[in-house]
Amino acid sequence: MCCGAAPDVGALCRPCAREVAPCDGLIPDHLRSPLDATNAQAWVVDGFGGAHAIAAKAVIGRNQGGDVVVLASSVSREHAELRRGETGWTVRDLGSRNGTFVDGARCQGRTALPGRAVLKIGDVALVMNGRGTVKDWVSGEPRHLHIGNHGGMSEDEMNIPLVVAKI
Ligand SMILES: [Zn+2]
Repeated sequence: MCCGAAPDVGALCRPCAREVAPCDGLIPDHLRSPLDATNAQAWVVDGFGGAHAIAAKAVIGRNQGGDVVVLASSVSREHAELRRGETGWTVRDLGSRNGTFVDGARCQGRTALPGRAVLKIGDVALVMNGRGTVKDWVSGEPRHLHIGNHGGMSEDEMNIPLVVAKI
């Protein structure tokens, strides 16, 4: 769900997981998305490998009513907005205190996202793959599109492999 390499840390491969290593004090419970996985337009994946479904427009922030809730003091209540347009995904900082970064560059105005991007929201880094669709299957099983999220909080859930196919 990151760069196309085999997932190793939840939904992330090991190098991508290193790139978005959780900041001090962050625990998996501090990140969540209330969106049902069947309605996912894209996914943002945290440094624990937990995948969070987003719709075509999603506000990330500390606000409990947000689309991706990130409970970290460096994150503003309404921090950044992801939106899917005709030409792809963009991100816009919503006047946050600590800024939004795309692949290391501070986001000014609405910024186009590459297919795979590292978003930094305050001190919290996330991988977003806006071009991936999640598929999972075991050998012998018919290959079908499965919009689902095996990223989870338990060790067992994290071990279920995910495969990303370009669409
Ligand atoms: Zn990767």
